Amino acid sequence: MSTEQNETLGAEDSKWLGEYSQVHMNVFGTPLRVMDHGQGAHIWDVDGNEYLDFLAGIAVNSLGYAHPKWVKAVSEQAAKVAHISNYFASEPQIELAAKLVKLAGAPEGSKVYFGNSGAEGNEAALKLAKLYGRTLPGALPSIGGKPARILAMTHGFHGRTMGALSATWKPNIRKPYDPLVPDIEFVRAGDEVALYEAFSQTGLGHYGKGPIAAVILELIQGEAGVQPLGADYVKFVRELCDINHALLIIDEVQTGIGRTGKWFAFQREDLSGGVTPDMVTFAKGVAGGFPMGGMIAFGEKLAALFTPGSHGSTFAGNPLGAAAGLATLGVIEDDNLIANAEARGQQLRDGIMVTGNPLYVSVRGRGLLDAVELKHPCAHAVMNYCLEHGLIVNAVAPNALRFAPPLIVTAEDVDQALAVLKDVPADLPND
Ligand SMILES: *Cc1c(COP(=O)(O)O)cnc(C)c1O
Repeated sequence: MSTEQNETLGAEDSKWLGEYSQVHMNVFGTPLRVMDHGQGAHIWDVDGNEYLDFLAGIAVNSLGYAHPKWVKAVSEQAAKVAHISNYFASEPQIELAAKLVKLAGAPEGSKVYFGNSGAEGNEAALKLAKLYGRTLPGALPSIGGKPARILAMTHGFHGRTMGALSATWKPNIRKPYDPLVPDIEFVRAGDEVALYEAFSQTGLGHYGKGPIAAVILELIQGEAGVQPLGADYVKFVRELCDINHALLIIDEVQTGIGRTGKWFAFQREDLSGGVTPDMVTFAKGVAGGFPMGGMIAFGEKLAALFTPGSHGSTFAGNPLGAAAGLATLGVIEDDNLIANAEARGQQLRDGIMVTGNPLYVSVRGRGLLDAVELKHPCAHAVMNYCLEHGLIVNAVAPNALRFAPPLIVTAEDVDQALAVLKDVPADLPND
């Protein structure tokens, strides 16, 4: 996020941002604007300025703002019961879990663990992988075994809690917290030889490391700048996991819930038949703006490794979040928003390249998780230009802008965004 404020900031925005910094720890830098209300793909700040939102709360607001069916579901649930703890269950929670297992195409006996965020979904996955790792023969101390390892990818992002952070690549956000969870190693994303070598270091006694319990990866590395892993590489990961009895954890926190043109990115045609995960984590878009996340364990045997007391959270799966989730998934289904994500994404990527603006070198992404590569490192300057011209985009890397609009965006919305992007001065200074 930008640290400098710009001259066009309105009086109300300035006033509130001054107060913001008095009472908030400065982990996010100064927010760009103070927002007031939204409708569809549009949001208004406290000075009344309107923005077309092509970030959607970082791929969260699947249905845009104030979708009537979402508002109705959340209001009605709030009026009934909002929270009950996991000593009790609710209908929406049970329905949402069943629906997620079905949408993921997970086999009979697959089960969900709910958390409240992406990081918590990944914590659950890493903990389940740890329990699984203890069942591997190479991890048994009595026969010279070593603790099982977990492999993560360079440039991967899995969250900020200590466990998820241990599997998150970016050294400047991870290193200050060392030492983190041990036995998590990074392999170079996309490098088959590196992965093979990591697996082949497993061995008994003095001669090797512990077995690999799991590999965790994103099919499109979102925070790294919307960088897809190659289909062949992902299939290779799956094969090595199979041969070595390791689990494949696919983090679909950003790619999932329809954003990339399927319910989950692992269901894309180019991967189908090749890649079924053992665990999928989800969050961001699942409840359309309500904090909610979790993990699906594929198959009864794996799911059964969590037993009473293994894991938990006070808020997990609460009725309000579950109602928001059910409403979100329902609208995505009823309004064919996955097909819309695919079509609008194509329109956006194609449209950027035909603007003829020399700033844009190439586009990448799938559905409505996209990025444009910029000619020089001026992503923050472009983001600020767009903001001042009524369009919210995200400077995801020094040389790249990310687009993650709500799945309800229309062809006209995309045209409106393209009109702003077309006119971005190609000679903006480097950040
Ligand atoms: C955002 C994100 C997370 C972390 O989610 P939080 O809700 O911020 O904890 C984890 N993995 C991926 C791929 C993400 O994009």
